[in-house]
Amino acid sequence: MQYKIPLTDRIARLHRKPGIDVHVADHCNLRCRGCVHFAPIAEPRLLDLYAYERDLTAFAAIPGIEDYIRELYLMGGEPLLHPELPEVIRMSRDLLPKVGITLSSNGLLLKRMGESFWRAMRECNIRLYLSPYPIKVDYPALLELAESYGVSATTAGDATGSDRGKEVFFHLAIDPTGSQDPVVAYNHCPFGGCNMQLARGRLWPCQVTAHHIPLNERFDLGLRSVPEDSLALGDISSTDQIDDLRHRPHPMCRYCANDRLAVAEWGISRLEAEEWVAGN
Ligand code: SF4
Repeated sequence: MQYKIPLTDRIARLHRKPGIDVHVADHCNLRCRGCVHFAPIAEPRLLDLYAYERDLTAFAAIPGIEDYIRELYLMGGEPLLHPELPEVIRMSRDLLPKVGITLSSNGLLLKRMGESFWRAMRECNIRLYLSPYPIKVDYPALLELAESYGVSATTAGDATGSDRGKEVFFHLAIDPTGSQDPVVAYNHCPFGGCNMQLARGRLWPCQVTAHHIPLNERFDLGLRSVPEDSLALGDISSTDQIDDLRHRPHPMCRYCANDRLAVAEWGISRLEAEEWVAGN
């Protein structure tokens, strides 16, 4: 089913404070078809603690940043795959003491998490956000489990406007020819500027700009980003620069055929290009 974001929604989303996503793992233990963070086709990669400390320290040093952002999301991929997740959590809280922090997970590994994970979640006041996919997982029981450890938990809502939770998924329409009008693509985009991405020493306006690399590696699409698609963390001295980045189209928007963006039934990926690439 075709998806078209109403202009009023697009404007409202851009007026909200931005969320900041961090990939704790690029890969996942569930292969959602068309995952908009490209996890099924991503090489296994875990967040490097040294690089994360460097990047988050630079990010936290931006004057007024804690008031500027809505939330920090520790996600992926599947963050519970990271063996040093308690350290990631504590580092996030130490460097951003005032910001709301949420850990987003599919919950598949939650029952296996040890005491150090639950203690870090509780002591650092991290909210758990479970994505209730239509799979054989007892999500209400997982919410109770989190509650038993004193951790605030909820299930993620629907991002597509269908009211069907995670039973449906966005289906991106990447145009590898790069012939889309960036302004039109940006104006019809449900992602850009809303949830920004902290990755590889830079701040990116969306997950396509930040995490498209698996598309190139697996399907040889040749998507190319340029410095104007993002900001180097060391170059950001004011939230005005972030405001500018999130409120304008950027060169990579030419790859998004958002007039062909769709909402599709959730399913397991077959790792085929058509899950992400626009048809003719
Ligand atoms: S590249 Fe532009 S159009 Fe594509 S998802 Fe990002 S902000 Fe949206």
